[in-house]
Amino acid sequence: MERTFLAIKPDGVQRQLVGEIIRRFETKGFTLVGLKFMKVSRELAESHYGVHRERPFFAGLVDFITSGPVVAMVWEGDGVVAAARKMIGATNPLASEPGTIRGDFGVNIGRNIIHGSDAVETAQQEVSLWFKDEELVSWEPQIKSWLYE
Ligand code: UDP
Ligand code: MG
Repeated sequence: MERTFLAIKPDGVQRQLVGEIIRRFETKGFTLVGLKFMKVSRELAESHYGVHRERPFFAGLVDFITSGPVVAMVWEGDGVVAAARKMIGATNPLASEPGTIRGDFGVNIGRNIIHGSDAVETAQQEVSLWFKDEELVSWEPQIKSWLYE
């Protein structure tokens, strides 16, 4: 089944939104298969945001993501990559729809609370960048027959 990589950024942790964010993905019906609370190294941050290396916000973004703990997660489910992006909302929280995480909790593009992989292929790369195979747990939720026909 499809998997995506999500990370609650240092602002989301400081804002005490960890429980609220995890609750949204749980109650939607996605399955948590990887979770760790960690301080991000500069090397990991630069690799994760490598596509943005030439952008003016890159240095500030790397400084920010390494500034405090993040909650790194892998979630599983049908269509989870695109669905999680919808639940997260537009990059600029002022443009994010109400009901999305960024739309409900943020006001600034540099403090947009959470990262989510943008495509299935990116998700696979990000999952393997952030997690070792043995850190991911495949399991069968008991409620699955109530989520899928
Ligand atoms: N970002 C920023 N300023 C910008 C654009 C992006 O600080 O003008 C940051 C922001 O934290 C964003 C991240 O860089 O989440 C990655 O940008 P991307 O365009 O990939 O947005 P996302 O995929 O997170 O919506
Ligand atoms: Mg992105």
